[in-house]
Amino acid sequence: NMQAPTRPIRTTCPYCGVGCGVLATPLAGGGLVIEGDPDHPANFGRLCVKGSALGETVGLKGRLLTPRIDGREAGWDEALDLIARRFSETIARHGPDSVAFYVSGQLLTEDYYVANKLMKGFIGSANIDTNSRLCMASSVAGHRRAFGSDTVPGLYEDLEQADCVVLVGSNLAWCHPVLYQRLAAARETRGTKVIVIDPRRTATCDIADLHLALAPGSDAALFNLLLAEIDRRGLIDPAFAANLDGLSEALTAARATLPSSTGLMHSELQRFLQLWTSSEKVVTVYSQGINQSDSGTDKVNAILNCHLATGRIGRPGMGPFSVTGQPNAMGGREVGGLANMLACHLEIENPAHRDAVQGFWAAPRMASKPGLKAVDMFRAVEDGRIKALWIICTNPAVSMPEADRVARAIAGCDFVAVSDMFGDTDTARLAHVVLPATGWAEKDGTVTNSERRISRQRRTLAAPGQARDDWRILAEVGSRMGWSDAFAWSSAAEIFAEHAALSGVAGALGSDFDISDYAGITAQDYDRLQPFLWPQSATRKGGRFFADGRFHHPNGKGRMIAVAPMPPQPLSREYPFRLNTGRVRDHWHTMTRTGLSPRLSRHLAEPYLELHPEDAAALSLAPASLAQVDSPYGRAILRVLVTDRVARGHPFAPIHWTGQTAPSGRVGALIDPTIDPVSGQPASKSTAVVIRPF
Ligand code: SF4
Repeated sequence: NMQAPTRPIRTTCPYCGVGCGVLATPLAGGGLVIEGDPDHPANFGRLCVKGSALGETVGLKGRLLTPRIDGREAGWDEALDLIARRFSETIARHGPDSVAFYVSGQLLTEDYYVANKLMKGFIGSANIDTNSRLCMASSVAGHRRAFGSDTVPGLYEDLEQADCVVLVGSNLAWCHPVLYQRLAAARETRGTKVIVIDPRRTATCDIADLHLALAPGSDAALFNLLLAEIDRRGLIDPAFAANLDGLSEALTAARATLPSSTGLMHSELQRFLQLWTSSEKVVTVYSQGINQSDSGTDKVNAILNCHLATGRIGRPGMGPFSVTGQPNAMGGREVGGLANMLACHLEIENPAHRDAVQGFWAAPRMASKPGLKAVDMFRAVEDGRIKALWIICTNPAVSMPEADRVARAIAGCDFVAVSDMFGDTDTARLAHVVLPATGWAEKDGTVTNSERRISRQRRTLAAPGQARDDWRILAEVGSRMGWSDAFAWSSAAEIFAEHAALSGVAGALGSDFDISDYAGITAQDYDRLQPFLWPQSATRKGGRFFADGRFHHPNGKGRMIAVAPMPPQPLSREYPFRLNTGRVRDHWHTMTRTGLSPRLSRHLAEPYLELHPEDAAALSLAPASLAQVDSPYGRAILRVLVTDRVARGHPFAPIHWTGQTAPSGRVGALIDPTIDPVSGQPASKSTAVVIRPF
């Protein structure tokens, strides 16, 4: 009995980092009608299948409607008092570094801001990290090494203005579908050359002029070879290079790289070098295939080196471009939601930066050193250094590497609180206190997409049951811990204004992230806020970065990094296959939301393993049979999909499926927890496994 819709509300898709604008029309009888927002500059009305199915995921099925303590229903006051008391007692007894928050790239910026302020300025620890650590921490580290700041130089339209677009470690067709559609449309009209660099032949290869199925992990070698070729062809821009440190060291490392390490044929390699070097307008897009590596930061810098040396950066149609997996990974970076950053892109190790933030917040106890990054944080939970943990809007018992161990660590922690929309996730089941949080369509705030564009998410539906917004829950705990003045906002708009005012302080210290134009924003203007690119300040409005050769290192120069390519960890007789992982087109993360849409589950209905035909034959695994996959860390049972999209010895499995009861398709249980030493990001695309018929 559908009733006439009311007027559409402009909001933003909660899935990938493209950040598409959505028109959500509440139906009088409940639910939402979803359309793409024709006026949003990320998508101009387009939506992918996940975004267009959002209306099918907003029902009450599985929703947590009241707080729970030890499995029983509880009141909000009792639950909040308990969290505040347990955190305060733990801090009093064991110090501020004995507690931690593990948060999410799906929090809104306002939620993230409050969590970061509470942990870094009031508790006095930097033990707040986020699932974005698993997604793009290597990009952040690479940006900071090269530019002196975590700045994405370019814009989406660069992909449409380029003559050559290189996609490295990015299945854009499935993981950022609307950006892929924009690229495909531009290719139709202007004949853009598209190069896909990926050991796997993915759906993105449908529009590729060249697909380089390079040896897994050899991306840095490939871009070193490109840098050497840039030099050989005399393409180093002398004026731009005058503003760079490290050029000669980077060139020396590049010249020492052997073409054979890429596993590519001579002709393929030459074609790549020819296409990249002969196209001034070249964009190199990279994603998790680069970031999720034990040398991910070096791989990022090997890419950035090539754009810096040629000055092909920050101008229309040119530049390196990191696309983020999550809807608000960028917003989290801006507020300092990573354990090694302060708010507004300020540096936690810089005393002047710390003092400025402390003064602005009137904070009693500032963190003075970086906190624990995700993998190390859960190790500290395991060995008892972290005694109180609050997990917000994420499901680490499924999604962390070595997920069984992480789940055991959470189960053994003295005190665990979880805030989530759903009460029965693998992680929520392990918590002492579970708090019902509002989700997409029920809360107000902002997100930042991969091109630095800040957009509103708007409330379109009432909060179900007793669910509350994450920022409010955090602020209520902050107040109960004794800091009521600092956590006294009455709306998301007030938090946004405070964050914007702090960004003005940061801008005065040289931070790129400055949106101080919005420091005095009213609730009404926040309501009407249109998508905008940062920065927005008295001195700078949106646009691209670095074409002028001015960077954010203290000497104003950019920095090239000498990269010695690292081959991936060797395989053993015991674990002879290298497992690659990633997303599927129609599901998101641990499927708590997309799993509610039967339409989305029809595309790929169960956990599977892509296996090369010769591997399948050698293992006597028939198509659609079940394979048992073991790593040193855990086990998963997966449906065999025999395909030559993957190379021999390099199977692939998607990450989304959950379930702790064996047999399970929970691939996180298998994943090697080895991290990149610079970024702390796990090498989720390279786990040694053994495969047998189940
Ligand atoms: Fe949502 Fe990304 Fe699809 Fe856009 S491309 S509709 S942001 S999932």
